[in-house]
Order: sequence, then structure tokens, then C-alpha cells
Amino acid sequence: MREIKVYHLYPGHLNLYGDRGNMLALCRRAEWHGINLKIIPVEPGNKINFSDCDLLFMGGGQDSDQKLVAEDLKGRSRDMKKAVEEGMVVFAVCGSYQLLGHYYTTGQGVKINGLEVIDLYTKAGQGRLIGNAVIECSLWDPPHTLVGFENHAGKTFLGPDLQPLGQVLSGFGNNGIDKTEGAVYKNVIGTYLHGALLPKNPRLTDCLLQNALTYKNQDDTLQELDDSLEQQAHSAAIKLAGLHRSK
Ligand code: GLN
Repeated sequence: MREIKVYHLYPGHLNLYGDRGNMLALCRRAEWHGINLKIIPVEPGNKINFSDCDLLFMGGGQDSDQKLVAEDLKGRSRDMKKAVEEGMVVFAVCGSYQLLGHYYTTGQGVKINGLEVIDLYTKAGQGRLIGNAVIECSLWDPPHTLVGFENHAGKTFLGPDLQPLGQVLSGFGNNGIDKTEGAVYKNVIGTYLHGALLPKNPRLTDCLLQNALTYKNQDDTLQELDDSLEQQAHSAAIKLAGLHRSK
């Protein structure tokens, strides 16, 4: 049976606005696709063997948790970066997404050094960027919408060669200015979207599973599933945002 090893980083610290639901969706869809998902929760101080990890998931966190997690990961960024370059799949939401970059400066002016895995930096703005969001995601051709919920003080700016995950149709995205949302680098996906994101965006869930299978040289064919319920949730979110289309 096909197997994917998922390292879930700091579930006790990084879990905002339903982020844990991403793991539930990942588990359930893997089961439907006939994939054995082995989840390894990692808390501060635990060992992380990045070469054993197929898919790494990190949720969002308050500034204080972000600081704690950054401390714990400090000495491990080289190993993480090496695995990323080799194709390890990473899915990071909000605070963790910020952590993948160079730094995050909080509203109090505290600079939290990032892991330098992708080329971006984040600075807290005056107010928080809160609300439902819809983006046109460029992972597929033709593009497909992703729907989620964002709540962040940080404004993220991507380096010149880093691709965004998508363009904002409704909401704020990376910084509320340039209409970009999230970032994609190799098999790394970073995003501000909580929600949880994956239950309402089954295409993205399958994309993560497929990338993890490919990374570990396993058969990456996924059968078509009945996504009518997930699609209803997706369409309802698009309607709520005042956009009347769903691709
Ligand atoms: N602390 C970060 C911010 O406010 C991340 C918050 C989050 O993960 N939702 O920008």
C-alpha cells in the first residue's frame, strides 16, 4: 500500500481558526485514495528527521507561539532547507508561512528570525487583515479558486523570483497592496488562508498528496472522488464573498 509520512509540526502551538482540520481532510482523502497516511506530531524539543518526512504541515500561531517555534527550529533550518530543495512537500499556514521567510517583525518591533527557506519577509502593519478570502490559484491551468479565512497583522512581501500561490479576488492576501496571496517554491506552499483550508479546497488537498507521492517515487494516480459536498462549501464561500463564480 502507498504510504505518506506527514510530520505535523507543533500541533499544540500552531493551530488557529481550524488549521487542525487540514490534517483531518488530508487523512480522510488519503484513506479514500487508498493511501496510508502516517502522522508524526512534533512538539518543541522533539527530534525531526527531515529526510524521513514526505509532507510537513505547520498551522498558524500567535506571535508568542511563533517566537517559541522559531527558537526550536533555529538550529534545524539547514536540514529543512536541504529537504525542501530535494522536493519535500511543505504546507505552511499564516504564522508558519511567515516563518519560512527571512524574518517577521511584530507590532511591538520584535524581530523573529525566519528559517530562510523561501525568499520573503514580513512586517506587522497598523491594523489586522481579517476576513474571508478568495484567490485565483495558479497551481492549475486553467486556474482554480481557493477559499479561506485570513487574520493577520503581518504584511508579507515576496522576493522577485518567488511565485505567489494566487491572485486575490476578495480579501487582503499577502499584504493588502499587491493582490498576491501566499507563495509557491518547489513543493512548498505557504498561505495566509485558514478555514480550515483543505476541507473546502479538495483540489489542493489532492495536490499535496500527489506531490508527496511523486517525491517518494510512488504511484501518484488518484481516482476521482465525489466532491459534491466539498464543492458546495467552496461555492458557498465564493457567494459569501460576493463573487458568483467557482471554477
Ligand atoms: N502572528 C502572525 C500575524 O498576526 C500570524 C497570525 C496567524 O497565524 N493567524 O501576522
